[in-house]
Amino acid sequence: MGAIRCTPHGLVIGLREVCPHVAQQVQALRLGPHHQIGQWLLCDACMDARLAPFDGEKTSSFLYGKKTPEQEAAWEAYHDLHPTLDVVCPECTAAAMNGYARHAGLPDPWPSYEHTLTNNEHDYPIVEQLRELVEAFRPWRLSIVDPRYSSCTVQGGAYTHPLEVQCYYVVQTGEQDALVAFVRKFLAGQAKNQGVVRFLDAENWIVKPNGSAHRGPEAVVREVYLNCSAPRP
Ligand SMILES: [Zn+2]
Ligand SMILES: [Zn+2]
Repeated sequence: MGAIRCTPHGLVIGLREVCPHVAQQVQALRLGPHHQIGQWLLCDACMDARLAPFDGEKTSSFLYGKKTPEQEAAWEAYHDLHPTLDVVCPECTAAAMNGYARHAGLPDPWPSYEHTLTNNEHDYPIVEQLRELVEAFRPWRLSIVDPRYSSCTVQGGAYTHPLEVQCYYVVQTGEQDALVAFVRKFLAGQAKNQGVVRFLDAENWIVKPNGSAHRGPEAVVREVYLNCSAPRP
């Protein structure tokens, strides 16, 4: 998965490949009905019949592994379209879908976090400041994934998710409440004050015999949304 740098959101993981007409609509923050096939977004005119069986797929997972003839055809269609496609930020795309819905008087298709600190140039130093304060707030266990880092992380938000303070191994309610109060107080002084504090019981780092490793399922024990509500599932 790639990453893209955009002015409103800073560095964002993931991207969308879009036809020039969808690109224009994203830029105008008014993205109307369109076709989504994994990370590709196309208007009616640019839609290829070979992609139709996968219209509405939210991820590109259908493209990986052994392909059926239909998947093979979709992949070829993508290669034919590729020279015409632009790359856009997924968060700007979400904002443009919301922009269209609001203009049309429809409910928001996305829960929007419009007042959260992001990774953009303006917000990043404030996110860094919070990271340093949280780091110093209490002793943290080091991450088993990368012991150079603590098991508590602070990440800037974007349009579809708020700033997050996420930590492992803090299981007592009183200790959790203290951290929540600390973050709440910090955000109360910010113009962009939406955030979430998330507690997970323990890291689950699975190392395979061949040396490859990945995170396994980890249990969220508590989430506290500050100045916003949880995203719709
Ligand atoms: Zn188009
Ligand atoms: Zn963006």
